[in-house]
Amino acid sequence: MKFNEALKEIKTYEAGKPIELVVREFGIEPKDVVKLASNENPKGCSPKVAKAIADSAHRAYLYPDDSMFELKEALSKKFDVGDNNIIIGAGSDQVLEFIARALLTSDDTVLMSQVTFAMYEIYAKQMGAKIVRTPSYRHIVSEFIEAYNEYKPKIVYICTPNNPTGDATSKEEVLAIINAVSKESLVVVDGAYMEYAAAKDEKYKIEPKDIIEFSNVIYLGTFSKAYGLGGMRVGYGIANRELIEQLYKMRPPFNITTLSLVASIEATKDEEFVKESIALHTQEIKRYEEFAKEHRLDYIDSYTNFITYLFDDSIDSTEISDKLLREGVIVRNLASYKMNAVRITIGTPKQNDRLFEVLKRSLA
Ligand SMILES: *Cc1c(COP(=O)(O)O)cnc(C)c1O
Repeated sequence: MKFNEALKEIKTYEAGKPIELVVREFGIEPKDVVKLASNENPKGCSPKVAKAIADSAHRAYLYPDDSMFELKEALSKKFDVGDNNIIIGAGSDQVLEFIARALLTSDDTVLMSQVTFAMYEIYAKQMGAKIVRTPSYRHIVSEFIEAYNEYKPKIVYICTPNNPTGDATSKEEVLAIINAVSKESLVVVDGAYMEYAAAKDEKYKIEPKDIIEFSNVIYLGTFSKAYGLGGMRVGYGIANRELIEQLYKMRPPFNITTLSLVASIEATKDEEFVKESIALHTQEIKRYEEFAKEHRLDYIDSYTNFITYLFDDSIDSTEISDKLLREGVIVRNLASYKMNAVRITIGTPKQNDRLFEVLKRSLA
């Protein structure tokens, strides 16, 4: 059987290792596994959301409201945009997929930074498009403009804050890139961790309404990170109406579940939970910075809910990740991104204690 030629170019996405794997392979009790690999919210989700899901369990047999009226209304209030500026996806991942399918052919090129969210490449390659990366892992405006002018990519991906590095691009810099791009290309501003960046420093805060006046820009957000709903798979794209209408043609009906819809609607009513999550995070990430200084590790100043430790040649990120894994601590090795580094999600105080204890021993 002959598969689509485009598939030859695609490496399967390597997700953060699940707790179940560590339990199976190393015989560690599930309660002793510390998973700091997928940037989930260590506080879990809002108890109000958990209750709403439980209270709606009996509705699992029903398809969800396909118009997603209530969720769109809540998001349109939150972001001060129209409900027809919004499309909902099964995670913002699915919106990324709609974008690639709506725009790309094998004649196209897409542009992204050297080290960024792996799904941009995968969705673009599924359409046969070519990938161009800027030289730096950070989003450098001049590098983006130079590469844009040379390759005229159909899509420019800006991930701010950036995963898996944790650094951010200021609103001013994002606008500079947008302004240098012709209306024939789409700029995707992926704000999966925007809540953390906005809390840390105003100049990194980008709101959808700041950028959707540009007809060729889409903002992506998700309930998976600060809202603690990774398992419910709800994300959104916000853009001008004509763009959203085109993306709708790619959307399968009922693309999020009845319970996901309940959960995300309830989550928009509990912003206090997000504030508390960020307060805990802000307190705990300081410990990671201190640990790094104490052990002479380099790290990238983080605007996200994780921190990236950079190792010198005396330490191998794969070896360290494996040592941690055998002790039931899951972090994300960045060797596959050609970085000798690990990405660690900031956990609860107790999880972080454990991480420090095991990492200290592994470094020794
Ligand atoms: C987590 C993440 C997403 C999307 O996650 P979903 O769970 O699909 O909403 C998008 N972009 C980046 C950079 C992420 O880290």
